[in-house]
Amino acid sequence: MAIKAVKGINDILPNVVGRWQLVESVARRIFSNFGFQEIRIPILEKTELFARSIGETTDIVEKEMYTFPDRNGQLLTLRPEATASVVRAFIQHKLHLEPGMRKFYTMGPMFRHERPQKGRYRQFHQIDVEVFGVDDPMIDAEVIYMLLVYLQELKLPDIKMHINSMGCPDCRLPFRQSLADYLEGVSDKLCSDCQRRRRTNPLRIFDCKVDSCGKLVDEAPVLLEHLCHECGENFQSVQDNLHSLAVAYTIDPLLVRGLDYYTRTTFEAITPHLGAQDAVGGGGRYDGLMKVLGGPDLPGTGFAIGMERLILLLDDKAGAPKERNRLFVACLGEEAKSRGFSLAQELRVSGLSVEMDYESKSLKAQMRRADKLASTHVLIVGDDELAKGAALLRDMEASSQEEIPLEGLVEQLLGRMK
Ligand code: AMP
Repeated sequence: MAIKAVKGINDILPNVVGRWQLVESVARRIFSNFGFQEIRIPILEKTELFARSIGETTDIVEKEMYTFPDRNGQLLTLRPEATASVVRAFIQHKLHLEPGMRKFYTMGPMFRHERPQKGRYRQFHQIDVEVFGVDDPMIDAEVIYMLLVYLQELKLPDIKMHINSMGCPDCRLPFRQSLADYLEGVSDKLCSDCQRRRRTNPLRIFDCKVDSCGKLVDEAPVLLEHLCHECGENFQSVQDNLHSLAVAYTIDPLLVRGLDYYTRTTFEAITPHLGAQDAVGGGGRYDGLMKVLGGPDLPGTGFAIGMERLILLLDDKAGAPKERNRLFVACLGEEAKSRGFSLAQELRVSGLSVEMDYESKSLKAQMRRADKLASTHVLIVGDDELAKGAALLRDMEASSQEEIPLEGLVEQLLGRMK
């Protein structure tokens, strides 16, 4: 029996690759205008990196990571997200020694053992953006703005921005207690996971997807109402900056996001067009993370976008392959085939997109293939034409044909097909 791909891990076939290239190239263009540099990080890291950064009691670390010992017995994990690796690389290569704030982006596959469904996969791809070294709320507004500019440039429909503040450790500690007290009162109604979360990490209850827990969460105290003075001012300033950029947003006190490292601003771009998986991208501030991972005490903020969800939302025509000035070389006869073969290589090297037939098919069959490839021109090389020192060039759109001498053929073709 033929071997199939692993469940939730998909191929990206040539007919949709244009869409992927589009979302990648628009990201590169826009992010670079905002001063971001690309960084490429490994897919495999020591498990400890994620356990320490994302949080031991988060869903990702508890249930979703692809973790295994390598042949030396070292515990490794296929990255479930990119921030931890970018921070690790930043610390390891002492990039903080370069002055000023640093802005990075990266893209690639992530791995989480979740239940696959539309918009949710076990291998999925993210575009990830990180800014290190600035705690000014202006930068929070700027990354939110950049995310929206990017999604607008891709013409994604009906995107809404939700924002919240997760406060700092100072306001989170007393809040945890009041949340724990509330949860104790309703503990018999919680799902078994939330029973456990109640003791280990009560904030994670806001991520629970079980309906009955959702109803309890709606009544729970929210962190936004327990912010300390500084965090309250900080959140107001983020909003003022968003106003100055004319960004529309909704404050969503239940937006806590599934990773422990967030502090203060969190945000998510939501769409009504993806069913249950409604987040296109999200992120926030993580001021303590660099230090937790053994680096300098530098603030950080960023976001990750799910590329599969972008692809699902793109207009049907987006990323369709551009018509190329493609030449098909149709050869009739053995000598013609060998001549056509060298010609095809020479023309490709000269910058033309060229295809040919290698199977000595009939002219009719070769013309059919040229049609299928949407070739704009066909060069017919036959033994008879060769004997005359010429080839025929057929313009497929105009349905016209002319004889071109073999002498100087490449230059002539290049001239005609510009
Ligand atoms: P997160 O790292 O969980 O904050 O996710 C950031 C974005 O990545 C989400 O808004 C989704 O668009 C996307 N994403 C997260 N998990 C998955 C998944 N399992 N499959 C597809 N996309 C995902």
